[in-house]
Amino acid sequence: MGQPATPSHAAAAPLAGQVALVTGASRGIGADIAIALAKAGMHVACAATSEANAQPTAEAAAAHGVRSLALALRVDEPDAVAAGFARVEAELGPVRLLVNNAGIAMQKPVLEMDASDYDRVYGINAKGVFLCAQAAARTMRDRGGGAIVNIGSITGNNAFPGRLAYCGSKAAVHHMTRVMALEWASYGIRVNCVAPGYIRTDIVAGLAERGIVDADALARRTPQQRLGSGADIAGAVLYLAGPDAGFVTGTVLYVDGGWDAYGYL
Ligand code: NAP
Repeated sequence: MGQPATPSHAAAAPLAGQVALVTGASRGIGADIAIALAKAGMHVACAATSEANAQPTAEAAAAHGVRSLALALRVDEPDAVAAGFARVEAELGPVRLLVNNAGIAMQKPVLEMDASDYDRVYGINAKGVFLCAQAAARTMRDRGGGAIVNIGSITGNNAFPGRLAYCGSKAAVHHMTRVMALEWASYGIRVNCVAPGYIRTDIVAGLAERGIVDADALARRTPQQRLGSGADIAGAVLYLAGPDAGFVTGTVLYVDGGWDAYGYL
């Protein structure tokens, strides 16, 4: 019996010439992702809490010969999300790839947390993913599909003391990825998650400066004996966004040097 023909839809289309929106693109992992997408020929909307913060990444993206846009888009504010997507569509075209990367860390013992701590972290890390993915999927559904890549974390599967809100919100990202993938598969929208291990960025530098983490100890805990780079994460996003991942949806891809798999000493 012959194999059924592979369905052809926009979710598996090559990336060049299509429009991507990357949240949290002012620095760190988000900036590296946005620039990697531009190198792959995508027009890129670079979002951050202010247009000024996003501007340097937008300029670096444009240097690769694509169109780019610096965008103020606070992911936890529904009106800002709606306005941001409308502006991207008007200035660059409909979004075919969303990278939900914006996120904040918080280190506090559970007994010292108050409700506003919880709401702030969940608002940006979890509700922000829901709001942006929903806005993107409404656009993609009406245009034959697209791809969404959510940035989760090893903390979405491994418990870290003092990180209740961060761990919980990242676990929510992993599981929301699966629900969205199921609901939107028939629209040609693929939804996947990249779960980074420790990556050398401002978040990790800030934690190291405050003595909350020890970068050398983290590298030793990692089977590959190093922290990751933004380029490691961007490579995984490019794969999940592109045609080689046309049959991949609802998955969480750990890009962590083996951290999640490690369960020994
Ligand atoms: P980062 O350097 O601290 O950058 C955070 C980004 O999020 C900035 O662009 C920031 O914009 C934006 N942002 C903050 N609050 C926002 C809001 N309310 N609305 C929209 N954007 C907002 O972070 P990173 O280390 O690159 O991490 C990026 C993602 O990877 C996060 O989701 C993080 O949880 C995840 N991750 C990181 C690591 C790691 O080791 N670094 C490990 C696992 C997972 P402004 O510049 O305007 O403030």
